[in-house]
Amino acid sequence: MASLRNDDHPATKIAQALGDIEPITKSVTPPLYPASTYQRDPDNQYRNGRVYARPHNPTFETAERLLTALEGGAASLLFSSGMAAATATFLALKPGDHVVAPEVMYWGLRNWLKGAATEWGLAFSFVDATDTQAFARALAPGRTKLVWLETPTNPTWGISDIAAIAKLAHDAGARVAVDSTVATPILTRPIELGADLVMHSGTKYLNGHSDLIAGTLTTAREDEYWERIKAVRSNVGAILGTFEAWLLQRGMRTLHLRVERASQSALKIAQHFAHHPLVAEVLYPGLPEFPGHALAARQMTGGFGGMLSIRTKGGEAAAVAVAAETRLWKRATSLGGVESLIEHRRSVEGPTSPVPHDLLRLSVGIEHADDLIADMEQALAIAHR
Ligand SMILES: *Cc1c(COP(=O)(O)O)cnc(C)c1O
Repeated sequence: MASLRNDDHPATKIAQALGDIEPITKSVTPPLYPASTYQRDPDNQYRNGRVYARPHNPTFETAERLLTALEGGAASLLFSSGMAAATATFLALKPGDHVVAPEVMYWGLRNWLKGAATEWGLAFSFVDATDTQAFARALAPGRTKLVWLETPTNPTWGISDIAAIAKLAHDAGARVAVDSTVATPILTRPIELGADLVMHSGTKYLNGHSDLIAGTLTTAREDEYWERIKAVRSNVGAILGTFEAWLLQRGMRTLHLRVERASQSALKIAQHFAHHPLVAEVLYPGLPEFPGHALAARQMTGGFGGMLSIRTKGGEAAAVAVAAETRLWKRATSLGGVESLIEHRRSVEGPTSPVPHDLLRLSVGIEHADDLIADMEQALAIAHR
């Protein structure tokens, strides 16, 4: 059925979502299957492999197979949100298991790990994600079952060395899972670097249009741990709706174009504001002076991503005032959409946040970079008047 080959470029695989033609109607787009249940064979078997739509939904398969191809994995699963995908990897562990995770990471997950997951019985060590030796020290051979990474780390964009940390983790008998939401499979392929599992908030770049919530996991191997993750998704019912799964594969077909454009614009914006009189610091892995730049240049391919942060001069008040004065940069949480967003992260994350008070997180969309720069310039000028 598939017309694409393994050696076709990612852009080709993405544009055609692997190129399947629907066999009955010859439709070039996949059908949408709303069925909640599937008929048994007359002898009571389920030879087509599908029983009920909580474990089995064929509408998921276009996005799952495309993601598996892009990440170079063995299999993928769609979830009802990025959080559902992330929490499934922890709920598939056992009480008493030890996990090493970064101190700076997606705050919603960090809060859950420090709260409910700890109460449930997992033990955590939180370390500086950019310090490979900190992972070496935190690993407890035999007891550590999972190392969680997020690179670049949200919202200060520190870079973790996936290959080096995966080697340390594997030597200690632990698996490595990477939240690769910000990097996308266009810029980083964690499984090729040694990771066992890749997670995305499909809400962000994969879908790209800020019109659905979804999550994904891709595994390097279909092993016993993956079976436990599948069981969590099915038993908890953390499944995506059929229509959202269809929208996700549609959004994914422009992933490469959107990520390339956002990365080019983010670099231009970062360079423009890096030595600006009203800006204290620009955090972006693509800037040569950024501490993780050399590692990012090795680990990331084709760009440094569409996310950056600006620390304004004048502290928190100036940062909040800048966000109030932008016209094109929309004040909203989330990231990875076609429209650019600005957010004062500290007000979102609350008093326990490790994020600086003067930090504005920018998600660069696909608008013209010069318009985005001009809008930020006028907002900075008004905020500092
Ligand atoms: C948004 C996000 C999540 C959570 O995903 P949801 O789809 O909102 O549940 C996890 N990690 C990162 C890096 C994110 O940006």
